[in-house]
Amino acid sequence: MTKRQTCYNCAMDGTMYAQVAIEQVPGQLFTYAAPGGLGVRVGQCVTVPWRRVYRRGYVVALAAECPYAPRRREAEQEELFGGAPAKGVKAIEAVEDPLPYFSEKTIALLRWMAAYYDVGFTLALRSALPAPVREGRSQARERFVVAPILPPPPRLPPLSKRQKALYEDIVRVDGGLLARLCEEFKTTPATIRRLAAMGYVSCERLEAPRNPLAGRRILPSRPLPLTPSQARALEAILAADRPTLLFGVTGSGKTEVYMQAIAKTLEEGRGAVVLVPEISLTPQTVSRFAARFGGQVAVLHSALSDGERHDEWHRIRRGQARVVVGPRSAVFAPVPSLGLIIVDEEHDTGYKQDESPRYSARDVAVMRAHLEGARCVLGSATPSLESWRNATELGKYALARLPERVGGAALPAVSLIDLRQAAAPGQPLPLFSPPLIDALRLRLERGEQAILFLNRRGYAPTYQCAACGEPLRCPRCAPARLTYHAKDDTLRCHLCGHWERPPTRCPACGAPLFKPLGAGTQRVEQALAKILPQARVIRMDADSTGRRHSHDELLAAFRAKEADVLLGTQMIAKGLDFPNVTLVGILSADRSLNIAYDFRAAERTFQLIAQVSGRAGRGVLPGEVVVQTLQPEHPAVAAACACDYERFAADELALRRAQNLPPYARLATLTFTGEDPAAVERAAREAAHALGRFPGLEVAPPLPAPLERKEDRWRWQLLIKAATAQRIARACHAAIPQERRLGPGPRALLDVDAVFLA
Ligand SMILES: [Zn+2]
Ligand SMILES: [Zn+2]
Repeated sequence: MTKRQTCYNCAMDGTMYAQVAIEQVPGQLFTYAAPGGLGVRVGQCVTVPWRRVYRRGYVVALAAECPYAPRRREAEQEELFGGAPAKGVKAIEAVEDPLPYFSEKTIALLRWMAAYYDVGFTLALRSALPAPVREGRSQARERFVVAPILPPPPRLPPLSKRQKALYEDIVRVDGGLLARLCEEFKTTPATIRRLAAMGYVSCERLEAPRNPLAGRRILPSRPLPLTPSQARALEAILAADRPTLLFGVTGSGKTEVYMQAIAKTLEEGRGAVVLVPEISLTPQTVSRFAARFGGQVAVLHSALSDGERHDEWHRIRRGQARVVVGPRSAVFAPVPSLGLIIVDEEHDTGYKQDESPRYSARDVAVMRAHLEGARCVLGSATPSLESWRNATELGKYALARLPERVGGAALPAVSLIDLRQAAAPGQPLPLFSPPLIDALRLRLERGEQAILFLNRRGYAPTYQCAACGEPLRCPRCAPARLTYHAKDDTLRCHLCGHWERPPTRCPACGAPLFKPLGAGTQRVEQALAKILPQARVIRMDADSTGRRHSHDELLAAFRAKEADVLLGTQMIAKGLDFPNVTLVGILSADRSLNIAYDFRAAERTFQLIAQVSGRAGRGVLPGEVVVQTLQPEHPAVAAACACDYERFAADELALRRAQNLPPYARLATLTFTGEDPAAVERAAREAAHALGRFPGLEVAPPLPAPLERKEDRWRWQLLIKAATAQRIARACHAAIPQERRLGPGPRALLDVDAVFLA
C-alpha cells in the first residue's frame, strides 16, 4: 500500500477527487474535490463553481488520491485522469440527484466515441443527453403556432411597411412555429403577436404532440406464433455471442421477432432499446410495442415537447420504463442493466449524425452492446454492405434470415419500364409511362391504393433561361441550382433555405423568358391531376409536412382511405405498412445513380428501390411495382427489381474490394470551411501535408468539395483512407491544431466513416 498523498491545496479528510465534464466548456475536463459528505459517484450530475458562476457538470471519474499531489509525476496524473493538471482544486458544490445520469459503462462508451470520432469527451457527452435534460427543464416550454388569415378580413387597421413585409413573409411560408418564424425573419414574438392582435394572423398555443401512448387505449397484443424461420431467427439472436444481422425481406415479420427477443430480455430482468429511423417513428410503430409491453415502453421522439422528453428520459433512468423506442439518439438511453439493443433498418443513413460528433448510431449500438454484455440485433431487408460483410466474410456478426413474407404474401411483381422508349420521338421524357398510367387506373377502379415515389421535392429542380440556357443558382451555395416552387412562385435552395422571386430577366443575357426543367413532386402532382382527375392525391414531402399537417396526420388520412394515391419523397420509403396498397410506382429510379463522386450511389439506389417496392402487396392483395428508369441495364436497378440483394451485394463488394473502398478500407472526409477561399485552400493543403507524415494513411490531394460552397462558406475536402478508423482519428488528432476546430478562420470537420461525400 502506498501512503496516501494529498495536495497542499486541498487537504480535506474523506475527500475524493472527481474529473468533471462541464457541458458548456468543451475541449477539456476539470478536476474538483468531492467532499466525503456529498457521496459523489461516477455519472452523477453535479453543480460546480466555474470561474465566477455555478455550472452543471457530470462526474466522469473518481480517484481517492489527489491527482495533483506535489510529488506525483505528470505521467501518473495522466494515468489517473488524463489531460493537463489544473492549478488548485475547488470543491463540488452539490449533487443534483444521487442516482447517476450515466452508468460507468456509458461513460466508457462515450470515451470510446470521443476517441473514435476524434471529438472531445464533452461533445460526445452532449450528444448523449437530450437538450431538455441538459437544461434541466421539467416544464414544457409553451409553443405557439402562427397562421396567416387568408384572405385578410376587410377593414383591418393598416400595416406599417415593416409589418407588411413580415406579414407577406408569413403568408409565403404559410405560417409555422412562432419561435421559428422569429428566427427566420429576424423579428420578435411581440411583433408577430401585434399582427395577431390586428387580425392578420392567428397565434395559438400548440398542443404539444402527445406522447403517442398517453391517454390512448391500446389493445394489448399477445405474442404471435412464429413461422419456422422466425423461430430460428429468434433462437439465433438469443444464443449469439456477437451481434446478429437479421436479414429479412420486406414484410417478413422482423418486428415480431424483435418483440419476442425483448420479452425474453425483460424476463431476464434487463431492459431493451429499439432504434428506428426517425421517419418511421410513427404512432403506428410505437403502438405495436406499446400493445405488447404497455407502460414499460418509453418513447424518445423529437416531436415530443421538451417537458415530455425530459420526463421520459428520467423515467428510463429510474428504471420505470425498460423498453425504449426512439431514433438515433436513443442509443444513449440511460436504461439500467441493458440486455438488448435493436437497430431496425440498420442500413438507414439517418443513423449517421450529420453534425459533430458525426457518429453512426448503428456502430455506437454495437459498441454499447459489447460494453454492456447485451445482445445486439441489426435488422434490414437491404443491409449495409459493411454489416453484410461483417456477417458473411468476416463472421463478426451472426446471420439470421427471414426469406419469406409472413402469411404467405408474395413479394410484388416488378416491371421495369425504359422511359426512353415511352417518349414520343422528339418529345421530352414523360413523367408517367403508359403502363404506369394503366396500373394507376386499375387501382382506382378496384378501390385499391397506390404509392408514387420521386426523390425530389418542389416543382422543377432547374429553372433556366429560355434563351441562353443558363440555370439560376443559389448565391450562397455552389454548384447548387435553385428549385422552382410553383405553389408560392419562389426559387429555393434546398441546402441553405435561401429563397427569391423568379427574376424578370436572365442575369446572364437579359432575356425575359425562363423555363422550369425536370420534375419535383409538385409538378408530378399537377401532371397527375390532368391524367387522372378523379384520383385523390396526398403529397408528402418536406414542403407539405411540418406546417399545418403533420407527417402522422397525412399517413393516417391515407390509411383511412381518404386518398387513392400517396405521392412523396424518401419520407414514404421506410417502414410504412398499408394493407390496401397494391401498386408502387417509382417515377425515376436512377436519379441518384449519376452522382459521380459518391461511390455509394449504387448501394443507395438499390436500397431505395427495394425499400419502396416493399411497400406493395403487404396485405392479402398481391402487389405490383412499376419502376421507370433510363438505365434498365444498370446492375443496381436490375438486382433491385429482381429483389436479389445477395447478387447485388456480391457484385458491389467485388467492386469495392478492387478499388479498396469501404467496407474494405475505412474512409473519412476532412472538410475545411471558411469565408475566405484562399485561406480554406491553404488550411486544406497544410493538413494534407501534415497528414502525409503518418504511416498507413492514404491521403488524397485536397480538392474543392463536391459541394463547393454552402451558406456562404467555401469548402475544401480531403479523403483519407486507412485500414482502421482509429488510425485516421489519431493522425487527425495529432495533425490538426486546436484552433482549426474551434477558433476563427477556416474550420476543420472530420467525418470518420463518412456516409455522404458532399
Ligand atoms: Zn439567359
Ligand atoms: Zn443555398
